Amino acid sequence: MNAKSERAARDEVSAWIALGANLGDAAATLKSAIAAIARLPLSRMVRASSLYRSAPLDASGPDFINAVVEISTGLTAPDLLDALQTIEAAAGRQRAYRNAPRTLDLDLLLYGDARIESERLCVPHPRMAQRAFVLLPLAQIAPQQVDAALLQQVAHQVIERLPS
Ligand code: ADP
Ligand code: MG
Repeated sequence: MNAKSERAARDEVSAWIALGANLGDAAATLKSAIAAIARLPLSRMVRASSLYRSAPLDASGPDFINAVVEISTGLTAPDLLDALQTIEAAAGRQRAYRNAPRTLDLDLLLYGDARIESERLCVPHPRMAQRAFVLLPLAQIAPQQVDAALLQQVAHQVIERLPS
């Protein structure tokens, strides 16, 4: 490894991103969002969970389709959030009101072992531990990141893993 690629390797961070959609063809939206994430600069897709179907939780509208992906990225966390919001906007997302039905929601769950609490970015994502639609797909691709006790606490939430 030369000095440059060594530095690149050291600067790459594993990041986990949750995807959710409940308007239009949500499964198709998620698949193109996963493809768009795979094309992010300085980033590569490591793994993607199955798609899951979940009942809306503190939200309205049809069932959600959810997934979680892991990328390895050289983007900083704020730059990654910018890039994810660009993908949301391209999918036609409008923030009508809090927890409104959405064409695409992308949440940065974990960025390496970073703890970030800025005005626009909180990592680890503050609500991930209460959401089966985050914990189940995350546990599928990164079991080491999910405490069994947390999974038990969300076991009553309605969610189904879709055949891939
Ligand atoms: P939610 O995902 O909670 O339904 P939104 O997607 O509308 O809500 O996000 C609202 C704001 O949350 C965004 O503008 C963003 O700046 C902020 N935010 C804070 N932490 C995160 C995070 N880890 N991932 C994504 N957005 C975040
Ligand atoms: Mg969001």
